[in-house]
Amino acid sequence: MIRTKVLVVGGGPGGYVAAIRAGQLGLDTVLVEAERLGGTCLIRGCIPSKALIHAAGKFDAMRRSVGGDALGITLREAPSIDLRKTVLWKDAIVDRLNGGVGALLRKAKVRVLEGWATFSDAKTCTVRADGGAETIRAEHVILANGSEPASLPGLELGGPVISSAEALSLDRVPGRFLVVGAGYIGLELGTAFRKIGSEVTVVEARERILPNWDELLTNPVRRWLERSGVTVHLGARLEAVARTELAAEAMVRTADGAAVRVTADKVLVTVGRKPRTQGWGLETMAVDMDGPFLRVDDRCQTSMRDVFAIGDLVGEPMLAHKASAQGEMVAELIGGARRHFDPVAIPAVCFTDPEIVTVGLSPAEAEERALQAIVAQFPFAANGRALGMEAGEDGGFVRVVARSDDHRMLGIQAVGAHVSELVGEFTLAIEMGALLEDLAGTIHAHPTLTEAFHEAVLRGLGHAIHI
Ligand code: FAD
Ligand code: NAD
Repeated sequence: MIRTKVLVVGGGPGGYVAAIRAGQLGLDTVLVEAERLGGTCLIRGCIPSKALIHAAGKFDAMRRSVGGDALGITLREAPSIDLRKTVLWKDAIVDRLNGGVGALLRKAKVRVLEGWATFSDAKTCTVRADGGAETIRAEHVILANGSEPASLPGLELGGPVISSAEALSLDRVPGRFLVVGAGYIGLELGTAFRKIGSEVTVVEARERILPNWDELLTNPVRRWLERSGVTVHLGARLEAVARTELAAEAMVRTADGAAVRVTADKVLVTVGRKPRTQGWGLETMAVDMDGPFLRVDDRCQTSMRDVFAIGDLVGEPMLAHKASAQGEMVAELIGGARRHFDPVAIPAVCFTDPEIVTVGLSPAEAEERALQAIVAQFPFAANGRALGMEAGEDGGFVRVVARSDDHRMLGIQAVGAHVSELVGEFTLAIEMGALLEDLAGTIHAHPTLTEAFHEAVLRGLGHAIHI
């Protein structure tokens, strides 16, 4: 029997960050992970998907130079892609980061146990691995079991029907790629596969793509899909899929009631993710639930004393940086600090083409809260750096939302190439309660995309220079 001060279950960005911080604080800490350190995010999520998206973008840029482009670059032959090699390159990045997480845990003196943890009561679990079983009893438990792909009733994964995990490790580019669900994963990966040559069809149940995002922000992505020949069925349902080992024949009911047959080499199901609450003895722990998620308070404390839960297990947004922030906070709480989880805003980024970022309130959300707001927008088409990176013509812009009375920033959104890298400044502004005047008085380096943010702020104050 291992007795420990802190037991962390799950080695994803929630759990491993919690464990490292607990170790740094000198707390005796054990981390249990059944698969590989890094969790969904590092092994089969954020990191590998962004690597694949990068490779696809590079291939697409080369493809567009065949026969000559506006920059004067000519490729005489079409580029080719060996997806097996791309996947090996991606795997090497994953392996390196996975090793890095292990080293950081060792440095923090965290004991890592490989195996599946099953609880018999709220503070006791048994970890089973090939080598046998070990029982752990802890004073404090941090549950960071994460999430898994939601499935569609009647459409089990297998053969050509895949989840994002398999999509990130294909050995050849599927000729015809059917995506079910036009959310984050469906569109990020659908875009990447289109860029490397797949014929892509997207089936989305709601009336528009990325339905949880503000429509003005998603319009440039919709236009990219149209321009790139991606077929998108909105308000549509996948009714049936007949499959062989190699291909699938899907029947799609479109919004107007027509039945459309789509043949696909791969069907990627991306209809959301669900918290992983089964198969590890949660029912023995007597913790309250909040729908499918574990219920926690603003200290990530469950209804059971000294049992904390973080990350995808506790609700939206199911994002890696939220999981990590909660993990760090819980470790500090256990270490004796007074903390609570109350960020002003959690940024979200969608790595489509173009990229979308949002922090804080959109204009519609400000209105719903009866807040009088100034809304101002600046287009990347008027930003020199964007034009010089071929990124000014995709309809992208930065938008700021600020209170009319005291000019405090409520929200910042942007759509455009490379905008993911602007999100740090946006989040800082919101978290620190910046006023439009604070940003207006901050000198933004030239030539950078950040000047579009500065100009949006100036426009909010009624005196933009470059528009
Ligand atoms: P997870 O990362 O899911 O980790 C949980 C870990 O717990 C797993 O490793 C699992 O093996 C382990 N585990 C569970 N139960 C047990 C048990 N009983 N015993 C032992 N081990 C157990 N988020 C972003 O912020 N940005 C992105 O760009 C992004 N891209 C994504 C792309 C894809 C394709 C996917 C699928 C997700 C993406 N996400 C992204 C979401 C992100 O991966 C999750 O929000 C994040 O991984 C959640 O972290 P977590 O620590 O809560 O859980
Ligand atoms: P999602 O919630 O983003 O999108 C799911 C989509 O599927 C929605 O548009 C929904 O309307 C649609 N849908 C649901 N049922 C359907 C059906 N029967 N037929 C057709 N469409 C249907 O979920 P996801 O793309 O699976 O991603 C899961 C989570 O992973 C995200 O919510 C996010 O938290 C995380 N993630 C984040 C990033 C990022 O931060 N860049 C990237 C990928 C994933």
